[in-house]
Amino acid sequence: MKDNGFNSLDLKQAVMRGIKEMGFVTPSPIQAQAIPLVLGGHDLIAQAQTGTGKTAAFSIPILNRLEKNGDIEALIITPTRELAMQISDEVFKLGKFLRIKTVCVYGGQSIRRQCELLDNKPQVLVATPGRLLDHLKNGRIANFEPKIVVLDESDEMLDMGFLDDVEEIFSYLPGSRQTLLFSATMPDQIKYLAQKILDRPKHVKITPANITNTDITQKCYVINEGHRDEAIIRLLDVLTPAKSIVFTSTKREADALCERLIQARYKSGALHGDMDQRARMDSIRAFKNGKINILVATDVAARGLDISDVSHVFNYHIPLNPESYVHRIGRTGRAGRKGMAITLITPLEFKEFKKIQDEVKHSLEIEELPSFDESHNQFVQKILKTKISDEAMGIYTDLIDKSDETNGILKLISFMLQMGLERKIGPTQKEIDKLKNQDKHRSSKERDYRGYGRYHRQEGYRGGRRR
Ligand code: AMP
Repeated sequence: MKDNGFNSLDLKQAVMRGIKEMGFVTPSPIQAQAIPLVLGGHDLIAQAQTGTGKTAAFSIPILNRLEKNGDIEALIITPTRELAMQISDEVFKLGKFLRIKTVCVYGGQSIRRQCELLDNKPQVLVATPGRLLDHLKNGRIANFEPKIVVLDESDEMLDMGFLDDVEEIFSYLPGSRQTLLFSATMPDQIKYLAQKILDRPKHVKITPANITNTDITQKCYVINEGHRDEAIIRLLDVLTPAKSIVFTSTKREADALCERLIQARYKSGALHGDMDQRARMDSIRAFKNGKINILVATDVAARGLDISDVSHVFNYHIPLNPESYVHRIGRTGRAGRKGMAITLITPLEFKEFKKIQDEVKHSLEIEELPSFDESHNQFVQKILKTKISDEAMGIYTDLIDKSDETNGILKLISFMLQMGLERKIGPTQKEIDKLKNQDKHRSSKERDYRGYGRYHRQEGYRGGRRR
């Protein structure tokens, strides 16, 4: 196993084989820093986002330390079902040659089924907080003394209101354990929790600046409120992304946009917390295997999902904070691939977005939306290249039979054009230039894009399309 950057970590042969099978050659920065510390038995606070290889950063040393003594030796707590399954899958694959068993425990699955799986004596248990606490309170996990406990996505657990559950879970765990806390950000509550549950922890940190790296091109487009759908469609038309995630702020928005995209003939699916488990898994699976190539998702549902070949991330609104921005755009540009992150901002959101960009140390670049002609051209090209189904051909032939031929063709073309023309939008060139100039000439304190909104009203601007 020459030339493998993992060699120097002194791992068991079986673990090295698992790493090789996964195709990992060089440890990622978080792995290079965290693995030796975990192998050395230290408690750890690791500040790292998804996409950095953090799952393997804790899974590899955990696997290396397993004794297979018939007990559950490691517990990994993570906020969502999808993440639990993803982690369990990665641990299982890395541990293939150790022949280990993992069990995943999360809400919404039959308790009896989970008890049967737990009776199978897995070495690694991956769980979401609520259901795990339920099992513990009801004494359904026998002799539960994991020697390594991982808290994954701790800040997300805080956001989702799981921190009390997490603390209570720790009251059931042995004091002699090794604890690893992973979090993208370190809000005060997480620092406080860390003080309570960790013992003289070591710290490792992969900063956002490392993440929003040159592999991800970041752009923003100024639009007017009410034109978000059309802007997304126009950008999709012109950029023709291979695989993209569009982040919306609310579940309702995710459903509405997804429907709109489907109407516009885009293969899209929604992913949010109001969907049942099966529907969520269906969307993720369809996105992974290419049945759909646009996922319209809310933050929570898409957090931490490992889909490696996302080419574009769209922010339908600006995210709430820099952390969310980093998380979202980190869905693309993974594993050394190039990615593009696009944020739609209204003039009113401009200031707020600038703050986010300052925080992630990226200079704000305002792009112009593709012109109507550009996007329309692409749209027509797309139609011309589309393979017409037999069914559509049948309807078309019928149409021609029913009318005289010229009329039929004309109607069809007009219909297609109308569909294209409905893709309106955006501020005019003049307005974008004005915004750019305002930004250049005013000090940051003076910038107030509310004036921009007034300008629209004075001019009688109605958000019509650019031609
Ligand atoms: P994570 O941050 O755990 O979500 O991991 C992101 C992706 O990187 C996953 O698909 C991992 O399988 C992959 N990955 C993790 N470690 C490595 C590595 N050392 N080399 C290449 N890919 C990796």
